[in-house]
Amino acid sequence: MDELILIKYGELTTKKANRGMFIKLLANNIKNLLKDEEYNIRFDRVRMYIECKNAKKIASKLKLVFGIHGIVICNKVNTNVEDIKLKVLELLKNEDFNTFKVITKRANKNFEIHSMDFNNIIGGFILKNIDCKVDVKNPDIKVYIEIRNEGTFIYTNEIEGLGGYPVGIQGKGMLMLSGGIDSPVAGYLALKRGVDLECLYFESPPHTSIEAKNKVIKLASIINNYSGNIKVNVVPFTKLQEAIYKSVPDSYVITIMRRMMYRIAEKMAIKNKCKVIINGESIGQVASQTLTSMLVINSVTNFPVIRPVCCMDKLEIISLAKDIGTYDVSILPYEDCCTIFLPTHPIINPNLDKCIKYESSFDYEKLIDECIDNISIITNLNQNNFDDLL
Ligand code: ATP
Ligand code: MG
Repeated sequence: MDELILIKYGELTTKKANRGMFIKLLANNIKNLLKDEEYNIRFDRVRMYIECKNAKKIASKLKLVFGIHGIVICNKVNTNVEDIKLKVLELLKNEDFNTFKVITKRANKNFEIHSMDFNNIIGGFILKNIDCKVDVKNPDIKVYIEIRNEGTFIYTNEIEGLGGYPVGIQGKGMLMLSGGIDSPVAGYLALKRGVDLECLYFESPPHTSIEAKNKVIKLASIINNYSGNIKVNVVPFTKLQEAIYKSVPDSYVITIMRRMMYRIAEKMAIKNKCKVIINGESIGQVASQTLTSMLVINSVTNFPVIRPVCCMDKLEIISLAKDIGTYDVSILPYEDCCTIFLPTHPIINPNLDKCIKYESSFDYEKLIDECIDNISIITNLNQNNFDDLL
């Protein structure tokens, strides 16, 4: 194992009190992700080191791990000036640049040359051997030399990590996952803040198709690349939905349907030890997402409901969906249970008393229990073939 990856934690290091816990969880998440690879992992309070054989492939996997700020494929040499010079030259010979800057970090204070002096020594050596100039403000290439107790690490490029917190540090949330654009993005944003996910999908066969369900599973698989633990709970919603359409005036069916979804989401959240419900609602996007609608719908539960995209506009959400790879799946044209039998005039300012009155006209509690008893759970979501990401 002659290759070495250095991982920078970034945001983690600012959380002093919890740092140890954060780093251990990050290491566990990385171990889960790399379970098919051969490598050794070590970490301290500032860095994580992965010794491996295929640093490029492993680095491409690490690009999907929240809690990592920077990924560096580096070159380890013994801490002596000659070895460092030779390695710097070898690295720079393969690079195309006109200007450079040397950045030395001397963590090993037993090394007698101070960082600034060492920058000058190596900078002078580069100038003597390669036709180029120093530019400390805006160099084409930065040469990092980290002198540490276990040796000296030299690298030129840092791959940007995803940032955020290690998934799971905040426990789990129950994501209401539809086939639309918004909810996968909401899930991704929650994962980024360290909230692992369990997914809940409401299907209404035969009104919704198997393709619609497969689309949701595909979306869950994509966001599972950032977690590895995600399951999808599929709720058979047909009977309850049909009862709503039979018992409730047209303009209120969506409001009542969403109150039912929230009730089921709360029960499933409790059952699965989730601390919050998460969904893809965005203020004003549709009739059921006006603030009045949200108030009336949300009033069926005391559970916290997190809406990561609620203040984003659609174009921002679409842009993020494209970045994370869910957009192309989300726009496949299969109908969701929210879009079948859409009323012509869904109410935008629903009244809570009316909701309660309409709901008292049928035994929805029994239908909710039936939904929950018949949930099917999909595990083993396919993860990406990482070779595609290389
Ligand atoms: P779009 O991206 O087209 O807006 P959407 O999935 O956001 O689609 P909405 O009707 O806006 O659809 O629904 C708001 C939120 O309610 C969704 O983001 C999702 O969290 C939840 N939701 C809607 N339909 C379902 C469903 N069938 N199963 C689970 N959650 C759903
Ligand atoms: Mg939406």
